[in-house]
Amino acid sequence: MLTVIHIPSYAAEIIHELERMGFSAYVVGGCVRDSLLGQKPADWDICTDARPEQMLQVFRKWRVFETGLKHGTITVRSRGHNVEVTTFRTDGTYSDNRHPDAVRFVSRIPDDLARRDFTINAMAYNDREGLVDTFGGQKDLEEQTLRCVGEPDVRFHEDALRILRALRFAARFQFAIETETAYSIRRNRLLLENISAERIFKELQGILTAPGAGDMLTAFPEVFSAILPELAGLVGSLDASGINSWTFTAHAVQTAPAENFPSRLAMLLHQLTPQAVTSALARLKSDNATARFVTTLLEHLAAPLPTSRPEMRRLIGSTSREMAEHIIHAHGIVNKLRHGSYEEIRSASTLLAEVLDSPPAYNVRHLAIGGNDLMKDGLAQGRLVGQILEQLLREVQDETLPNTKQSLLTRATELTQNCTEPQESPR
Ligand code: ATP
Ligand code: MG
Repeated sequence: MLTVIHIPSYAAEIIHELERMGFSAYVVGGCVRDSLLGQKPADWDICTDARPEQMLQVFRKWRVFETGLKHGTITVRSRGHNVEVTTFRTDGTYSDNRHPDAVRFVSRIPDDLARRDFTINAMAYNDREGLVDTFGGQKDLEEQTLRCVGEPDVRFHEDALRILRALRFAARFQFAIETETAYSIRRNRLLLENISAERIFKELQGILTAPGAGDMLTAFPEVFSAILPELAGLVGSLDASGINSWTFTAHAVQTAPAENFPSRLAMLLHQLTPQAVTSALARLKSDNATARFVTTLLEHLAAPLPTSRPEMRRLIGSTSREMAEHIIHAHGIVNKLRHGSYEEIRSASTLLAEVLDSPPAYNVRHLAIGGNDLMKDGLAQGRLVGQILEQLLREVQDETLPNTKQSLLTRATELTQNCTEPQESPR
């Protein structure tokens, strides 16, 4: 069957320019894969037999950035888009399980495709020749299979990051991992020790936020334990309700909102002790915002949900409205998996809706008076100002004091009188 891919004009023009100068050029990798799947590619990469210095010559009148010239890559600006153009190359030997010791430029496209990780990522296309599919990528796409190009053990030894890339692509497209590739992933998982925390964290993000995250967790517990040894204790152990702890974790991750990485990461770590969570986040070199989200969510997941409007207001005040929603949702996930009951969650959601429906009273900024009003009226000075405002907030949150200027000032007067009542001074 003839395969036709529509290449956007800004990328097609680069190919035509190279062809005009006597070179061959193709779109390659992710953009071919995504097009064949009927999905919109994030970006269009081009490969060519033109050597780096020849590419610079061809595009001398274009805007060009020498982004990776040593590895044969330049970035060409075309109609407002940046397009990476790379000379066909092989990657030589790898002595550190991650970086090729040297790249070698080659002149035949199949040699370039052979260095690529998976068959579905190893296809090229141009309008003249159609699809170049040396390793059966199109068939694997049709059969929804992720398979290494070449010998899996060799490929994972060259670059251990491919272990996590495999899980990420399989999770993203909900593909099965071909048997030999899957065995090899398990066998070689400890090579991940040679991969930097930053890269692992980025791939983990890709895996956890993909539609098939739960399936990958279920199928490859030993890989996740290799990057997060804290998780190893969950694999094969049963919790108090007789549920397999790892299966439970996989379900919890899958049930958390896919677009929210921090909440999926929190579910991955939710059965660990706070100390283990902290050390896992530090080892992964998590960014601070994600780490803070995870620890806050897990701290509140370990505590009971608010059971009254004042408690709900204080929860929002100490976290945020969004975090309160995440906390209720996380309780919902864990609760549903354990008891199949949603009662507590439903009533917490109702409380949240009621609180959000009423005028906000989450922190002292929401009070109808501020510190200045207290100082102006000579009611309080210094630390007492803050203490009085906090007390007023508590009472407004408790719905025992209306949040109006008049009633707050009256109550503040009462409070200061209580505080300033003459005390017996010690002799
Ligand atoms: P995405 O949509 O996630 O960007 P992609 O396929 O474009 O998917 P990239 O990481 O952008 O993935 O890499 C582009 C191409 O380069 C891949 O399709 C693959 O052919 C090749 N590639 C990238 N990383 C590796 C690697 N570690 N080992 C082998 N080939 C790789
Ligand atoms: Mg890409």
